[in-house]
Amino acid sequence: MKTSEIKALLDEPACSHNEKEKSGCARPKPGATAGGCSFDGAQIALLPIADVAHIVHGPIGCAGSSWDNRGTRSSGVTLYRTGMTTDLSETDVVMGRAEKRLFHAIKQAVEDYQPAAVFVYNTCVTALIGDDVGAVCKAASERWGVPVVPVDAAGFYGTKNLGNRLGGEAMFKHVIGTREPEPARPHPAGIRTHDIALIGEYNIAGEFWHVAPLLDELGLRVLGTLSGDARFREVQTMHRAEATMVVCAKALLNVARKMKEKFGIPYFEGSFYGVADMSAALRDFARLLNDADLTARTEALIAREEAKADAALEPWRARLKDKRVLLYTGGVKSWSIVSALQDLGMKVVATGTKKSTEEDKARIREIMGNDARMIEDGSPKALLSTYKDYKADILIAGGRNLYTALKARIPFLDINQEREFGYAGYAGMAELAKQLALTMESPVWQAVRAPAPWAANIVAAVANA
Ligand code: SF4
Repeated sequence: MKTSEIKALLDEPACSHNEKEKSGCARPKPGATAGGCSFDGAQIALLPIADVAHIVHGPIGCAGSSWDNRGTRSSGVTLYRTGMTTDLSETDVVMGRAEKRLFHAIKQAVEDYQPAAVFVYNTCVTALIGDDVGAVCKAASERWGVPVVPVDAAGFYGTKNLGNRLGGEAMFKHVIGTREPEPARPHPAGIRTHDIALIGEYNIAGEFWHVAPLLDELGLRVLGTLSGDARFREVQTMHRAEATMVVCAKALLNVARKMKEKFGIPYFEGSFYGVADMSAALRDFARLLNDADLTARTEALIAREEAKADAALEPWRARLKDKRVLLYTGGVKSWSIVSALQDLGMKVVATGTKKSTEEDKARIREIMGNDARMIEDGSPKALLSTYKDYKADILIAGGRNLYTALKARIPFLDINQEREFGYAGYAGMAELAKQLALTMESPVWQAVRAPAPWAANIVAAVANA
């Protein structure tokens, strides 16, 4: 990929963060890929497309460190969970055999698995030796009659976020708009239906299945998703959506903006986390689709679901009231989860803002007041000292902080992509409340904090020695 193309992707005009800074995303600094390289980001964005053979063209370590790194779920085919790589060795590089191996890898994937398409991910090694991945994909596609899509996002191009964007760019360039959708079936309730698309929704722990039935009920057909529980055929038809929602994903704004420019599809940025945000997302769809009947039905559905959610949360509220939370996550979750926790009667003593934009920080101040404590330093030492100083009852953070919490013997809830439970939608809020209560009330904390049963004997034995 040319430097000018990467530069253009970093200067995403639709990103409000960019608008303010006037300088685009920060250029990667040495060490920036420690939180995930561009290749990793591209895989995160595209791996959930479940019926595609995802081939990592590079040394096996690249595939090993990125495979299955999100708890994304599929409602059917699970080909995406089969790790595929060309497993290049030094000899392959020295002997110039990398492209040949790729061609054979595509052949094997097509013959053994009959995928809907093949995605080939470029990595540092293959980009450095100058493999023409695009040409190999084209030749393989012609030979086997299956779409073979190059995803040029070598690790050294930049950060994980840039990789998300490069993955989205590959979809916009090679996939979206390459097939027409089937006509919508009449809705069982006889209502008018609309086609929509979702960008940045990954169906972590199957959480989108909390939301999907509500969209169905409103007559909103999800034509395609980037990329939770998606199928290649669906992504091909996303250009026919009437409205797009960018779900908590500034990194993929380039796709939404380009779909608007090329196909005239309006979009909004929203979130499915928390009762208020869930309702706002449904209202935003109704607003963009400009259908009075849909607006009325949306309001009725919101009233019904909010009442249901309120009743479901009531028993948990009593158990969670006044509990103190240290939240360390990034981006929109740094405020959207705060409002969800406050709604449960909990007190967020501090929130992490390392990956948050200025807009995110402004929202935090709005929700938590001016003395909101924002923490940038996510090191174990800093997290534990904040936890202690602010007398928190639970640490809510990403999976990489799990062992920090367990070693310190403090309650911990995973809020990021590796989590086991889905928190999206109205039903997801009740799940979040339940997991919070069960985590804090677990008898394990008392047991592990008490002195070991044999400790007294050891002390006595030492004293008598
Ligand atoms: S693509 Fe490059 S930075 Fe990313 S895992 Fe492979 S070698 Fe490492």
